[in-house]
Amino acid sequence: MTSTQAPPFRLALRGDLLDFTGMPDWGAVTSPAVRWRPDHWLLVENGRITGVQPASQPLPGEGWQQQDHRGRLILPGFIDTHVHSPQLDVIGSYGTELLDWLNTYTFPAESRYAQAAESESGAARFVQALLSHGTTTAVVFPTVHKISADLLFAESARRGMRLVTGKVLMDRHAPDNLRDDVVQAERDCIELIERWHGHQRLSYAVTVRFAPTSTPAQLAMAGALCAAYPGLYMQTHVAENREEVAWVQQLFPEARSYLDVYARAGLMNERSVLAHGIWLDAEDRAVLRDTGAQIAHSPSSNLFLGSGLFDWRATEDAGGRVTLASDVGGGTSLSMMRTVLDAYKIQAMQGQRLTGWKALHAATLGAAQALHLDHEIGSFEPGRLADVCVWDWAADPVAERRMSVVQSLHEQLFAWFTLADDRNLVAAYIQGVPQYWRAAMPSG
Ligand SMILES: [Zn+2]
Repeated sequence: MTSTQAPPFRLALRGDLLDFTGMPDWGAVTSPAVRWRPDHWLLVENGRITGVQPASQPLPGEGWQQQDHRGRLILPGFIDTHVHSPQLDVIGSYGTELLDWLNTYTFPAESRYAQAAESESGAARFVQALLSHGTTTAVVFPTVHKISADLLFAESARRGMRLVTGKVLMDRHAPDNLRDDVVQAERDCIELIERWHGHQRLSYAVTVRFAPTSTPAQLAMAGALCAAYPGLYMQTHVAENREEVAWVQQLFPEARSYLDVYARAGLMNERSVLAHGIWLDAEDRAVLRDTGAQIAHSPSSNLFLGSGLFDWRATEDAGGRVTLASDVGGGTSLSMMRTVLDAYKIQAMQGQRLTGWKALHAATLGAAQALHLDHEIGSFEPGRLADVCVWDWAADPVAERRMSVVQSLHEQLFAWFTLADDRNLVAAYIQGVPQYWRAAMPSG
């Protein structure tokens, strides 16, 4: 033991800081919830945000490692609330709707993850891909294989990331090599929970693929796990596609609706993350409100698979929480910009306008709040961990010209969302440590 304490690691990032202090209203292009601090320093000590100050003021005290990104946009890292790690292998697969798409493309790809080497290289590739798209936290489906969750947790731990995942549960209506059974699945879940849940920044999610691939006995086991371990998440899919909804009705005639299958199994709570939710009714939305569960809206996937148009406004008006998700590989990009742009178009088809503020909030602070992680991520509030991304405002001549003629901050941000993608990302920091850097790291 020594009495000498190491000096704090001090990092100062300079750029245009944008985050939120609350939820922007629908349609409002100016909002008091937007916090815009152009040309400021973001101060980080030992991985945690400690303050923000104008670039014109001298830094407080000594020992700051300065990284000057002036003229660039600095945002809290994006939070992708629904994405499948093994499905990088099937992104952009032609010609099917959900149920055919699973059988034709997805299940064969997922079966490869039975091999540890495949799970290991897949986890590394996936986490690197998230970071290189500016996503610093995700809620992830690996595969039915315990090893796939185990190695995804390990890779996230190595990076110091906040990640939510769990072994996928499926004990029927899937190929032989992708089915578990209730007893073995429960044992695997408990082992993974005890190894990883609450370890560093990792959280376990009881991961029901969707109602058709779990027997009632397995759903009941999943519900019992949620009740037995405090702080567990639950993730699944709900009401994505009309054929799927009809199938669930046949399989669970006793349930009032698809969502009700999960409610009856004890799977609806404030840490439940349900992807899609396109074909829900008013009663289902009331259940979302009453339980605090969130819909992970997956616009790119919904368009690509022809699933339908999610009514974001109606869900929120009914008191439900909505976050944004890439849903790769049904979705066609890990980029939250591409995701936002598809969300905008889906709302436009229904007569609603999704502002840049609503979208950015949903992908940062809104998701952090819905996941009950806003004490840790989602904003630049002092005390939050420095999961931060630095972006170029423009990456090509068209965007440069567009940015040069903007008249307002919302116009600038909205056009940025429309024109930007992962090429705009300069750096992604996890707890103040760069985990992605586009060019060679600066020295000093
Ligand atoms: Zn999905």
